[in-house]
Amino acid sequence: RTVYVNGVFCPEDQGRVSIFDRGFLFADAVYEVVSVLDGRLVDFSGHMARLRRSLGELAMPQPAGEAELLAIHRELVARNGLVEGAVYMQVTRGAADRDFLFPPEDTRPSLVLFTQASSLVEKPAATSGLRVVTLPDLRWQRCDIKTVQLLYPSMAKTEAKRRGADDAWLVKDGFVTEGSSNNAYIVPGDGTLVTRPLSPAILPGITRTAVLRLAGVAGMAIDERPFSVEEALSAREAFITSASSFVLPVVEIDGQRIGDGTPGETARLLRAIYIEEARKSAI
Ligand code: PMP
Repeated sequence: RTVYVNGVFCPEDQGRVSIFDRGFLFADAVYEVVSVLDGRLVDFSGHMARLRRSLGELAMPQPAGEAELLAIHRELVARNGLVEGAVYMQVTRGAADRDFLFPPEDTRPSLVLFTQASSLVEKPAATSGLRVVTLPDLRWQRCDIKTVQLLYPSMAKTEAKRRGADDAWLVKDGFVTEGSSNNAYIVPGDGTLVTRPLSPAILPGITRTAVLRLAGVAGMAIDERPFSVEEALSAREAFITSASSFVLPVVEIDGQRIGDGTPGETARLLRAIYIEEARKSAI
């Protein structure tokens, strides 16, 4: 694979960042994952808007303008012949002598990109559904910023796997915040789409925005409000969204079947609509 590191495209085993990089020492870094379909980038401008916001919230300088970042993404996709998968991009505050204080303003941010090939459309979980377990949400209180502080979500997913499930849904004060790396939804008996409203407690998913828009266009009723674990357990269906999973049904929570234990109609329909739209609008 060819990767991109601070202005240079190089083989992955030659990509280097300093041991003093603040991304490494302090998780002082933000990232984006843009999915690739048919060799094209899905919702690129949405991801760049969120990147700008994350950088702004952390007073971190922009590594490059959107046009340049687009060119780098495209070049990397082309060099790797990537047809389906994702481009990972990380921006750190750069390398500086270790100090909790932010380094001088002229410290150069680090910019790193690599690609990951994977099947996004043909996914076993789209037909089998996911099993999730609920775990306490022990993350910090600015989950709206897409930082690389991913230790707790990583622990949660590992614990979910250990318990025989696929992923974790995180719970704060009895209410589901989101999945370890995705947004969470339920459809109660009345057929409304329920998902937690945006706040510092969750990441504003780019896929979430797209799926809610498409659900609205399809005439679905949407209620952005917190939902409890109990409500999720008695829901007709449940599902998740993210750039790497699109829309995937959840068929089991904490060992209890959701609905009849098979992927729900809403999730199936939204997945199909989303994929069609993503293919059409990818750049
Ligand atoms: N929540 C969390 C905690 C995530 O890590 C992700 C994926 N990065 C999402 C939600 C989904 O966001 P997106 O649709 O932009 O991939």
